[in-house]
Amino acid sequence: MQLPIFLDHQSTTPVDPRVLEAMLPCFTKEFGNAASRTHPYGWRAQELLETARGEVAAAIGAGRDDIVFTSGATESNNIAILGAADALKERGNHIVTTAIEHHATLDPCRHLANRGFDVTFLRPDGAGLVTAEQVAGAITQRTILVSVMAANNEIGTVYPLAEIGRICREQGVLFHTDAAQAVGKVEIDVDEMGIDLLSISGHKVYGPKGVGALYARRRDPIVRLSPVFHGGGHERGLRPGTPNTPGAVGLGAALAIARRDMKEEAERIQRLRDRLHKAISDGLDGVTLNGHLERRLPGSLNLSFRSVPSDALLISLKDIAVSSGSACTSASVEPSYVLRAIGIPASLAFSSIRFGIGRFNTAEEIDLAAQRVVETVSNLRSIHKQVAGRRRPPPKSAAPESGAPDRASGGRG
Ligand SMILES: *Cc1c(COP(=O)(O)O)cnc(C)c1O
Repeated sequence: MQLPIFLDHQSTTPVDPRVLEAMLPCFTKEFGNAASRTHPYGWRAQELLETARGEVAAAIGAGRDDIVFTSGATESNNIAILGAADALKERGNHIVTTAIEHHATLDPCRHLANRGFDVTFLRPDGAGLVTAEQVAGAITQRTILVSVMAANNEIGTVYPLAEIGRICREQGVLFHTDAAQAVGKVEIDVDEMGIDLLSISGHKVYGPKGVGALYARRRDPIVRLSPVFHGGGHERGLRPGTPNTPGAVGLGAALAIARRDMKEEAERIQRLRDRLHKAISDGLDGVTLNGHLERRLPGSLNLSFRSVPSDALLISLKDIAVSSGSACTSASVEPSYVLRAIGIPASLAFSSIRFGIGRFNTAEEIDLAAQRVVETVSNLRSIHKQVAGRRRPPPKSAAPESGAPDRASGGRG
C-alpha cells in the first residue's frame, strides 16, 4: 500500500495508465502539428485530435463539432462566461450563478460585475442544493446567461441540470455548467439537459493536467461567443494556438474509459465511500455530514468533527492525503465559503474534512483510513479535554502545532 493514501480526488486524479499509453506516441513518433496541412505528420496529428474530440463529445451526448479543446475547466469557464457576456451585451447585462461555484466561475463573474454586469449569486439550501425554481425566480428580461455547476467540488452535491436547462430554454437564456467534477461520474447529456455550454477538466477524470474542453452548442440553437483569445483560427477561433495533441488524446482516452465503466465504477466507489462513512461514524460521535445525503457524487464525503480543528487533524493524519473545508488566505485561516454558504456554523466549518474516493482506492485503504481518522480524532479530543482540565498546554510532542501548514491551503479542486 502506498502511503499516504490518496483521498483527495476532487483536487486531482492520477493519470490512468491506459491514458498514458494512448498519449505516449504523440510526444515522439506522432508529434505533428495538427494545423499543418502539407504533410502526413500534420494529417496524423489532426486525425488523432479529431478522434479524441469525438470521444469527448460522446461522453456528454454532444456532436464532435461542438467540442473545443482548452487548457482545463478554468479556461473553459472563462471562455464561456466572458465570451457569452460579450457576445450578448446588447441584449442584456444580467447573469445568474450560485454562491458556491468554483473560483473558476465566481472570479470571471465578479470580473464582469466590476465592468457593468449585474450578477445574481443564488444562495443554496442547507444541503447545498440550488433549485430550478430559484433560477426561474432570478431570471429577468435582462438575463443573458445562467451558470450553475453540475456538481460541487467541496460537498459533492449534484445540481438539477435538466430542470434548470428546461427553465433556461423556456426563457431563451444560455445555460452554462461547470462539469469538472461531474463528467465521467454521473450521467450527463447536453441535449436532454438543455445545456448550451459545458466545461470539462482532464485531470479530474484520470487524464492529464493542462487539458480540458468546452462544449459550445452548434445547433438547436447555435451558441455565439466572442473570443477571449486572439491569434489564429484554431478551435473555432475560440482557442487559438497549436493544439495540445497529447493532452487531447489523453482526455479522449480518459473519457472513453469513464463512459464505458462509469456505472460499475460509481457503484464501487460509492460502496467504498459509505464504508468509510460508516466506519468513522461507528467509531466516533459528533460527526456530521456536510452536503446532500443522496444527491451527491459517488466518491464525495465531507464531514465535520465536533471540537476538532481541521488544521490540527490534517497535520496529525499523516497516512491520509485529504483536504480541509477551510483555506488559508494570506494572513488567516477562513472556513470554506461553500460550507458557510450552506449555513454550517463556523466552528463546524473549521472542523471539516473532505474525503474524495477514486478509481484506484481499495477497501483495505478505506479501512486503514477510517481507523486512522477514528484514532486521531479521539486523541485530539482527549488532548483537548486534558488541556481544558489542566488549563495549561500539553507536552509539545503530543500537541498539534498551530499555525497550520500549506496542507490546509488552496488546491481544493
Ligand atoms: C478543478 C475544478 C476546476 C478547475 O479545473 P482546471 O482544469 O484545473 O482548470 C473548475 N471547476 C471545478 C468544479 C473543479 O473541480
